[in-house]
Amino acid sequence: MEANERSATYWSEYDFTKIPFDQLIRVGQRSLLYRDLFCVSWLLGRYCNYKCSYCWPYARSDVRDHRPTELLVQTMDEIKRQARARGFNSFHFSFSGGEPTTHKGYLELLSHYGKDMPHSNYQSVHMTSNLSPGIGWFKKYIEATASLNRVSVTASYHSEFSNREAFRDKILFLQDGDVQVTINMVMVPERFEQLWELALFFHEANINVTLKPQSNPTATKVVDGYTAEQLLRLKNGMPQRGYTEQQLKKADKKSQRPKSKLDFTPYAPEGIIPRPRVDAPSIMQVELTDSGGQPWFMDQAERFNAFEFNQFQGWECSAGYRSIIIREPDGTVKRSYSCSDQPLGHIESGFHLFNKPMPCQTASCVSSADSKIPKRKAGVSLPLWPGDKTFGEP
Ligand code: SF4
Repeated sequence: MEANERSATYWSEYDFTKIPFDQLIRVGQRSLLYRDLFCVSWLLGRYCNYKCSYCWPYARSDVRDHRPTELLVQTMDEIKRQARARGFNSFHFSFSGGEPTTHKGYLELLSHYGKDMPHSNYQSVHMTSNLSPGIGWFKKYIEATASLNRVSVTASYHSEFSNREAFRDKILFLQDGDVQVTINMVMVPERFEQLWELALFFHEANINVTLKPQSNPTATKVVDGYTAEQLLRLKNGMPQRGYTEQQLKKADKKSQRPKSKLDFTPYAPEGIIPRPRVDAPSIMQVELTDSGGQPWFMDQAERFNAFEFNQFQGWECSAGYRSIIIREPDGTVKRSYSCSDQPLGHIESGFHLFNKPMPCQTASCVSSADSKIPKRKAGVSLPLWPGDKTFGEP
Protein backbone atom coordinates (compact mmCIF):
# COMPACT_ATOMS: atom_id res chain seq x y z
CA MET A 1 0.00 0.00 0.00
CA GLU A 2 1.31 3.49 -0.95
CA ALA A 3 2.13 5.89 1.90
CA ASN A 4 -0.71 8.29 1.04
CA GLU A 5 -3.22 5.39 0.82
CA ARG A 6 -2.04 4.17 4.23
CA SER A 7 -2.44 7.69 5.60
CA ALA A 8 -6.00 7.98 4.18
CA THR A 9 -6.92 4.67 5.82
CA TYR A 10 -5.38 5.76 9.11
CA TRP A 11 -7.36 9.00 9.26
CA SER A 12 -10.68 7.44 8.24
CA GLU A 13 -10.25 5.03 11.14
CA TYR A 14 -9.28 7.72 13.67
CA ASP A 15 -11.20 6.83 16.83
CA PHE A 16 -12.47 9.90 18.72
CA THR A 17 -13.43 7.76 21.72
CA LYS A 18 -9.67 7.27 22.44
CA ILE A 19 -9.18 11.00 23.18
CA PRO A 20 -8.32 11.46 26.91
CA PHE A 21 -10.85 14.26 27.50
CA ASP A 22 -10.11 14.56 31.22
CA GLN A 23 -6.41 15.25 30.52
CA LEU A 24 -6.77 17.98 27.90
CA ILE A 25 -5.11 21.32 28.58
CA ARG A 26 -5.67 23.18 25.31
CA VAL A 27 -8.44 23.04 22.73
CA GLY A 28 -9.11 24.97 19.55
CA GLN A 29 -9.91 24.99 15.90
CA ARG A 30 -6.63 24.57 14.01
CA SER A 31 -7.38 27.47 11.65
CA LEU A 32 -7.48 29.66 14.79
CA LEU A 33 -4.54 28.09 16.64
CA TYR A 34 -2.17 28.47 13.68
CA ARG A 35 -3.43 31.65 11.99
CA ASP A 36 -3.94 35.32 12.85
CA LEU A 37 -7.66 34.61 12.42
CA PHE A 38 -10.43 36.69 13.95
CA CYS A 39 -13.81 35.00 14.08
CA VAL A 40 -17.28 36.59 13.96
CA SER A 41 -20.60 34.78 14.42
CA TRP A 42 -23.37 37.10 13.28
CA LEU A 43 -27.03 36.37 13.74
CA LEU A 44 -28.60 38.80 11.25
CA GLY A 45 -32.15 38.60 12.62
CA ARG A 46 -34.81 36.18 13.77
CA TYR A 47 -36.93 36.47 10.64
CA CYS A 48 -37.41 33.13 8.91
CA ASN A 49 -39.54 32.27 5.86
CA TYR A 50 -40.20 28.74 7.24
CA LYS A 51 -42.30 27.91 10.26
CA CYS A 52 -41.28 24.42 11.36
CA SER A 53 -43.44 22.82 14.03
CA TYR A 54 -40.42 21.95 16.22
CA CYS A 55 -38.63 25.33 16.03
CA TRP A 56 -38.07 27.06 19.41
CA PRO A 57 -40.19 30.26 19.58
CA TYR A 58 -37.10 32.34 20.50
CA ALA A 59 -35.23 31.11 17.41
CA ARG A 60 -37.51 32.58 14.74
CA SER A 61 -39.99 35.35 13.96
CA ASP A 62 -42.55 36.18 11.25
CA VAL A 63 -41.52 39.82 11.47
CA ARG A 64 -38.65 41.16 9.35
CA ASP A 65 -36.29 42.40 12.07
CA HIS A 66 -33.20 43.16 9.97
CA ARG A 67 -30.92 46.16 10.58
CA PRO A 68 -30.08 48.47 7.64
CA THR A 69 -27.36 47.24 5.28
CA GLU A 70 -25.31 50.41 5.85
CA LEU A 71 -25.07 49.66 9.60
CA LEU A 72 -23.95 46.09 8.84
CA VAL A 73 -21.22 47.38 6.53
CA GLN A 74 -20.01 49.90 9.15
CA THR A 75 -20.06 47.21 11.85
CA MET A 76 -17.99 44.86 9.70
CA ASP A 77 -15.41 47.63 9.15
CA GLU A 78 -15.26 48.46 12.89
CA ILE A 79 -14.77 44.80 13.85
CA LYS A 80 -11.84 44.60 11.45
CA ARG A 81 -10.35 47.85 12.75
CA GLN A 82 -10.33 46.58 16.37
CA ALA A 83 -9.13 43.10 15.36
CA ARG A 84 -6.24 44.52 13.33
CA ALA A 85 -5.25 46.72 16.29
CA ARG A 86 -4.83 43.43 18.24
CA GLY A 87 -2.70 41.81 15.55
CA PHE A 88 -5.37 39.78 13.71
CA ASN A 89 -5.60 40.32 9.96
CA SER A 90 -7.32 37.14 8.80
CA PHE A 91 -11.09 36.94 9.15
CA HIS A 92 -13.89 34.44 9.33
CA PHE A 93 -17.49 35.70 9.31
CA SER A 94 -20.27 33.23 9.98
CA PHE A 95 -23.84 34.38 9.26
CA SER A 96 -27.02 32.84 10.58
CA GLY A 97 -30.54 33.83 11.63
CA GLY A 98 -33.50 33.21 11.42
CA GLU A 99 -32.72 32.77 7.78
CA PRO A 100 -29.78 34.98 6.70
CA THR A 101 -30.53 34.77 2.96
CA THR A 102 -33.75 36.77 3.56
CA HIS A 103 -31.78 39.92 4.52
CA LYS A 104 -32.12 42.15 1.45
CA GLY A 105 -28.58 43.54 1.83
CA TYR A 106 -26.87 40.21 2.51
CA LEU A 107 -25.25 39.81 -0.92
CA GLU A 108 -24.13 43.47 -0.82
CA LEU A 109 -22.48 42.87 2.58
CA LEU A 110 -20.66 39.81 1.20
CA SER A 111 -19.44 41.78 -1.84
CA HIS A 112 -18.13 44.51 0.49
CA TYR A 113 -16.28 41.82 2.45
CA GLY A 114 -14.76 40.39 -0.75
CA LYS A 115 -13.47 43.82 -1.80
CA ASP A 116 -11.21 43.93 1.30
CA MET A 117 -9.20 40.91 0.16
CA PRO A 118 -6.14 42.99 -0.88
CA HIS A 119 -5.79 44.30 2.72
CA SER A 120 -6.32 40.99 4.53
CA ASN A 121 -4.13 37.92 4.93
CA TYR A 122 -7.07 35.56 4.59
CA GLN A 123 -10.86 35.80 4.50
CA SER A 124 -13.53 33.13 4.72
CA VAL A 125 -17.28 33.13 5.11
CA HIS A 126 -19.83 30.66 6.38
CA MET A 127 -23.60 30.65 6.61
CA THR A 128 -26.24 28.45 8.16
CA SER A 129 -29.23 28.37 5.83
CA ASN A 130 -32.39 26.43 5.06
CA LEU A 131 -31.38 26.75 1.35
CA SER A 132 -34.82 28.14 0.47
CA PRO A 133 -33.67 30.57 -2.29
CA GLY A 134 -33.70 29.34 -5.88
CA ILE A 135 -30.62 28.36 -7.91
CA GLY A 136 -30.51 31.92 -9.40
CA TRP A 137 -29.86 33.37 -5.93
CA PHE A 138 -27.12 30.83 -5.24
CA LYS A 139 -25.47 31.76 -8.54
CA LYS A 140 -25.25 35.37 -7.28
CA TYR A 141 -24.00 34.09 -3.89
CA ILE A 142 -21.17 32.18 -5.59
CA GLU A 143 -20.26 35.32 -7.58
CA ALA A 144 -20.34 37.61 -4.50
CA THR A 145 -17.99 35.29 -2.59
CA ALA A 146 -15.73 34.24 -5.50
CA SER A 147 -12.68 36.24 -4.32
CA LEU A 148 -12.66 34.72 -0.79
CA ASN A 149 -10.21 32.07 0.39
CA ARG A 150 -12.92 29.71 1.60
CA VAL A 151 -16.71 29.61 1.48
CA SER A 152 -18.78 27.14 3.46
CA VAL A 153 -22.43 26.48 4.18
CA THR A 154 -24.21 24.52 6.87
CA ALA A 155 -27.47 23.45 5.30
CA SER A 156 -30.40 22.76 7.63
CA TYR A 157 -32.89 20.34 6.11
CA HIS A 158 -36.50 20.89 7.21
CA SER A 159 -38.74 18.15 5.86
CA GLU A 160 -41.99 20.10 6.39
CA PHE A 161 -40.88 22.73 3.87
CA SER A 162 -38.11 21.21 1.73
CA ASN A 163 -38.04 18.50 -0.89
CA ARG A 164 -34.99 16.30 -0.37
CA GLU A 165 -34.14 15.92 -4.09
CA ALA A 166 -34.28 19.71 -4.69
CA PHE A 167 -32.26 20.27 -1.51
CA ARG A 168 -29.62 17.77 -2.68
CA ASP A 169 -29.43 19.42 -6.12
CA LYS A 170 -28.84 22.89 -4.63
CA ILE A 171 -25.99 21.46 -2.54
CA LEU A 172 -24.40 19.79 -5.56
CA PHE A 173 -24.67 23.16 -7.38
CA LEU A 174 -22.88 24.88 -4.47
CA GLN A 175 -20.18 22.19 -4.34
CA ASP A 176 -19.67 22.67 -8.08
CA GLY A 177 -19.14 26.40 -7.33
CA ASP A 178 -16.29 25.53 -4.91
CA VAL A 179 -18.40 25.93 -1.78
CA GLN A 180 -17.96 23.48 1.11
CA VAL A 181 -21.29 22.17 2.41
CA THR A 182 -22.39 20.04 5.31
CA ILE A 183 -25.95 19.20 6.30
CA ASN A 184 -26.76 19.59 9.98
CA MET A 185 -29.02 16.89 11.25
CA VAL A 186 -30.34 16.97 14.81
CA MET A 187 -30.84 13.29 15.64
CA VAL A 188 -34.02 13.41 17.73
CA PRO A 189 -34.03 10.11 19.73
CA GLU A 190 -37.67 9.22 18.86
CA ARG A 191 -37.03 9.52 15.09
CA PHE A 192 -33.41 8.36 15.10
CA GLU A 193 -33.67 5.55 12.52
CA GLN A 194 -35.81 7.62 10.10
CA LEU A 195 -33.29 10.49 10.33
CA TRP A 196 -30.42 8.05 9.87
CA GLU A 197 -32.04 6.87 6.59
CA LEU A 198 -32.31 10.50 5.44
CA ALA A 199 -28.68 11.14 6.43
CA LEU A 200 -27.66 8.12 4.32
CA PHE A 201 -29.61 9.50 1.32
CA PHE A 202 -27.44 12.65 1.36
CA HIS A 203 -24.25 10.81 2.32
CA GLU A 204 -24.69 8.53 -0.70
CA ALA A 205 -25.04 11.63 -2.93
CA ASN A 206 -21.50 12.62 -1.76
CA ILE A 207 -22.65 15.30 0.68
CA ASN A 208 -21.29 15.69 4.21
CA VAL A 209 -23.79 15.18 7.02
CA THR A 210 -23.07 16.33 10.59
CA LEU A 211 -24.98 14.29 13.14
CA LYS A 212 -25.94 16.39 16.15
CA PRO A 213 -27.37 15.11 19.43
CA GLN A 214 -30.54 16.93 20.53
CA SER A 215 -30.01 19.41 23.40
CA ASN A 216 -32.46 20.25 26.15
CA PRO A 217 -34.47 23.53 25.78
CA THR A 218 -31.81 25.55 27.66
CA ALA A 219 -29.09 23.99 25.46
CA THR A 220 -27.07 22.93 28.51
CA LYS A 221 -27.26 19.14 28.13
CA VAL A 222 -27.88 16.40 25.60
CA VAL A 223 -31.36 14.89 26.06
CA ASP A 224 -31.87 11.34 27.38
CA GLY A 225 -33.29 8.54 25.27
CA TYR A 226 -30.38 7.45 23.03
CA THR A 227 -29.37 3.78 23.04
CA ALA A 228 -25.67 2.99 23.56
CA GLU A 229 -25.40 2.00 19.90
CA GLN A 230 -27.02 5.26 18.74
CA LEU A 231 -24.64 7.26 20.94
CA LEU A 232 -21.73 5.45 19.32
CA ARG A 233 -23.06 6.41 15.86
CA LEU A 234 -23.26 10.05 17.08
CA LYS A 235 -19.69 9.90 18.38
CA ASN A 236 -18.01 8.28 15.39
CA GLY A 237 -20.56 8.20 12.54
CA MET A 238 -20.27 9.86 9.13
CA PRO A 239 -16.79 11.41 9.24
CA GLN A 240 -16.50 14.55 7.09
CA ARG A 241 -14.89 14.18 3.67
CA GLY A 242 -13.62 16.57 0.98
CA TYR A 243 -16.62 16.13 -1.36
CA THR A 244 -16.32 19.61 -2.94
CA GLU A 245 -12.73 18.86 -4.00
CA GLN A 246 -13.80 15.43 -5.29
CA GLN A 247 -16.65 16.98 -7.31
CA LEU A 248 -14.36 19.63 -8.84
CA LYS A 249 -11.81 16.97 -9.73
CA LYS A 250 -14.47 14.79 -11.36
CA ALA A 251 -15.58 17.77 -13.48
CA ASP A 252 -11.91 18.35 -14.40
CA LYS A 253 -11.99 21.76 -12.71
CA LYS A 254 -9.50 23.39 -10.34
CA SER A 255 -10.32 25.62 -7.39
CA GLN A 256 -9.79 29.29 -8.36
CA ARG A 257 -9.72 30.44 -4.75
CA PRO A 258 -6.61 32.37 -3.65
CA LYS A 259 -4.23 30.90 -1.08
CA SER A 260 -3.75 32.53 2.31
CA LYS A 261 -0.99 35.16 2.27
CA LEU A 262 0.44 33.62 5.45
CA ASP A 263 1.73 30.12 5.88
CA PHE A 264 -0.59 27.74 7.71
CA THR A 265 2.07 25.54 9.23
CA PRO A 266 1.21 23.78 12.45
CA TYR A 267 4.12 24.00 14.87
CA ALA A 268 4.99 22.26 18.09
CA PRO A 269 4.54 25.05 20.66
CA GLU A 270 7.41 25.97 22.93
CA GLY A 271 7.26 24.63 26.44
CA ILE A 272 6.02 21.14 25.68
CA ILE A 273 8.01 18.03 24.96
CA PRO A 274 9.28 18.37 21.36
CA ARG A 275 7.94 15.57 19.19
CA PRO A 276 7.45 15.12 15.44
CA ARG A 277 4.40 17.10 14.43
CA VAL A 278 1.48 15.02 13.14
CA ASP A 279 0.17 16.90 10.12
CA ALA A 280 -3.50 16.03 10.23
CA PRO A 281 -5.61 16.46 7.07
CA SER A 282 -7.60 19.71 6.88
CA ILE A 283 -10.83 17.81 7.46
CA MET A 284 -9.63 17.35 11.08
CA GLN A 285 -10.58 20.88 12.10
CA VAL A 286 -10.03 20.69 15.85
CA GLU A 287 -6.82 20.04 17.78
CA LEU A 288 -6.78 18.97 21.41
CA THR A 289 -3.55 18.84 23.44
CA ASP A 290 -3.16 16.58 26.46
CA SER A 291 -1.03 17.27 29.54
CA GLY A 292 1.89 15.36 28.01
CA GLY A 293 1.91 17.62 24.93
CA GLN A 294 0.39 14.94 22.68
CA PRO A 295 -1.97 16.39 20.02
CA TRP A 296 -5.32 14.72 19.36
CA PHE A 297 -7.72 15.57 16.55
CA MET A 298 -11.41 15.78 15.82
CA ASP A 299 -13.18 16.56 12.56
CA GLN A 300 -15.44 19.16 14.15
CA ALA A 301 -16.32 20.69 17.49
CA GLU A 302 -19.98 19.65 17.00
CA ARG A 303 -18.96 16.28 18.46
CA PHE A 304 -17.86 17.75 21.84
CA ASN A 305 -21.37 17.57 23.32
CA ALA A 306 -21.67 13.88 22.42
CA PHE A 307 -18.65 13.36 24.73
CA GLU A 308 -20.01 15.81 27.33
CA PHE A 309 -16.81 17.77 26.81
CA ASN A 310 -18.07 21.33 27.31
CA GLN A 311 -16.98 22.58 30.73
CA PHE A 312 -14.23 25.20 30.66
CA GLN A 313 -14.98 27.36 33.69
CA GLY A 314 -11.68 28.91 34.88
CA TRP A 315 -9.87 28.19 31.57
CA GLU A 316 -8.34 31.18 29.72
CA CYS A 317 -10.49 31.64 26.66
CA SER A 318 -9.71 33.88 23.69
CA ALA A 319 -13.42 34.48 22.94
CA GLY A 320 -14.06 38.24 23.18
CA TYR A 321 -10.45 38.99 22.25
CA ARG A 322 -10.12 37.27 18.88
CA SER A 323 -13.80 36.41 18.33
CA ILE A 324 -17.25 37.91 18.91
CA ILE A 325 -20.88 37.19 18.27
CA ILE A 326 -23.60 39.65 17.27
CA ARG A 327 -27.05 38.64 18.21
CA GLU A 328 -30.46 39.96 17.20
CA PRO A 329 -33.13 41.06 17.92
CA ASP A 330 -31.44 42.92 20.83
CA GLY A 331 -28.30 43.85 18.84
CA THR A 332 -25.83 42.87 21.58
CA VAL A 333 -22.18 42.15 20.87
CA LYS A 334 -20.91 39.34 23.15
CA ARG A 335 -17.74 37.28 23.51
CA SER A 336 -19.65 34.16 22.46
CA TYR A 337 -23.13 32.54 22.50
CA SER A 338 -22.85 30.49 25.71
CA CYS A 339 -20.95 33.06 27.79
CA SER A 340 -22.67 34.54 30.82
CA ASP A 341 -20.29 37.59 30.82
CA GLN A 342 -21.60 41.13 30.37
CA PRO A 343 -21.92 42.05 26.66
CA LEU A 344 -18.99 43.84 25.00
CA GLY A 345 -21.35 46.45 23.61
CA HIS A 346 -24.13 47.05 21.11
CA ILE A 347 -24.28 47.12 17.31
CA GLU A 348 -25.79 50.65 17.31
CA SER A 349 -23.81 52.28 20.13
CA GLY A 350 -20.41 50.54 19.77
CA PHE A 351 -18.38 47.78 21.42
CA HIS A 352 -14.88 47.09 22.76
CA LEU A 353 -13.00 43.83 22.45
CA PHE A 354 -11.05 42.48 25.45
CA ASN A 355 -7.35 43.32 25.56
CA LYS A 356 -6.28 39.71 26.28
CA PRO A 357 -7.82 36.21 26.73
CA MET A 358 -10.07 36.20 29.81
CA PRO A 359 -11.14 33.42 32.20
CA CYS A 360 -14.30 31.52 31.32
CA GLN A 361 -17.08 32.24 33.83
CA THR A 362 -19.71 29.96 32.33
CA ALA A 363 -20.80 26.52 33.54
CA SER A 364 -21.12 24.89 30.11
CA CYS A 365 -19.93 25.88 26.65
CA VAL A 366 -22.47 24.08 24.51
CA SER A 367 -22.35 25.82 21.16
CA SER A 368 -19.70 24.53 18.77
CA ALA A 369 -19.18 28.15 17.62
CA ASP A 370 -17.91 28.77 21.18
CA SER A 371 -16.13 25.58 22.06
CA LYS A 372 -13.89 25.74 18.97
CA ILE A 373 -12.46 29.15 20.03
CA PRO A 374 -8.94 28.40 21.38
CA LYS A 375 -8.71 28.09 25.16
CA ARG A 376 -6.24 26.64 27.65
CA LYS A 377 -6.41 25.47 31.23
CA ALA A 378 -5.46 28.22 33.69
CA GLY A 379 -1.68 28.37 34.15
CA VAL A 380 -0.85 26.45 30.95
CA SER A 381 1.90 28.06 28.87
CA LEU A 382 0.67 27.20 25.39
CA PRO A 383 -0.09 29.80 22.70
CA LEU A 384 -3.64 30.28 21.42
CA TRP A 385 -2.50 31.90 18.13
CA PRO A 386 0.89 32.35 16.38
CA GLY A 387 3.06 34.66 18.47
CA ASP A 388 0.72 34.62 21.48
CA LYS A 389 2.69 35.60 24.57
CA THR A 390 -0.26 36.37 26.84
CA PHE A 391 0.14 33.25 29.01
CA GLY A 392 1.56 33.72 32.47
CA GLU A 393 0.29 37.33 32.63
CA PRO A 394 -1.36 38.42 35.89
S1 SF4 B 1 -18.52 29.67 27.62
FE1 SF4 B 1 -17.53 31.43 26.62
S2 SF4 B 1 -15.74 31.95 27.87
FE2 SF4 B 1 -16.42 29.87 28.42
S3 SF4 B 1 -15.17 28.52 27.15
FE3 SF4 B 1 -17.12 28.87 26.05
S4 SF4 B 1 -16.66 30.60 24.72
FE4 SF4 B 1 -15.05 30.58 26.25
